Amino acid sequence: MSTYKLICPHCHKSLRIRTSVGQHVFLRTAYLQCTNEACGATFRAQFEITHEMSPSGMPNPTVRLPVAPAALRRDAMQNPNETQLDLLEATA
Ligand SMILES: [Zn+2]
Repeated sequence: MSTYKLICPHCHKSLRIRTSVGQHVFLRTAYLQCTNEACGATFRAQFEITHEMSPSGMPNPTVRLPVAPAALRRDAMQNPNETQLDLLEATA
């Protein structure tokens, strides 16, 4: 399974999550800091669960998310190096 690291948009070194706060079960706000001391940029980011790509084996009846349309599921199956956002970089 691949993991992803967050990349500083200024210097392209990795960002670390200093702290994060849950806004909602589907939404988390994170405060990020560039690990490059010469850069030192900090950021606020949000991570949102937007769709269910495959159903849970232990479904919670209070969780109501749209099922991802076929186009989204197809994108997720493609090579992450072709679909990644600039903010994210695949790391093995
Ligand atoms: Zn940086």
